[in-house]
Amino acid sequence: MTAPISAEVIAKLRALRKIQKVSAQQLSDRMTELGYPVARTVIANLENGRRTEVSIDHVVIAAQSLGTTVMALLNEPVECPQCKGEPPAGFTCNTCGAGETR
Ligand SMILES: [Zn+2]
Repeated sequence: MTAPISAEVIAKLRALRKIQKVSAQQLSDRMTELGYPVARTVIANLENGRRTEVSIDHVVIAAQSLGTTVMALLNEPVECPQCKGEPPAGFTCNTCGAGETR
């Protein structure tokens, strides 16, 4: 089972990544450039729930790569311009991925 805070942070990072149209590979490249080498598969496994815990270093660098901070990530909702975080029941938001089933 995913720790609740990890799950929330991972979901927010995924939403930000999708809203900014950054691919998992691009995020991996940016994080590597910032000194935290991480494989695209690690990002994918976190986002699809196969990997359930994330290190604080990963979160800090991923947030920085997406133009935000850990504090903002923990304290503020991710603003999706398309669905405002709440797509209609049964629908998936193509912009942020909200409503996606695993
Ligand atoms: Zn959305």
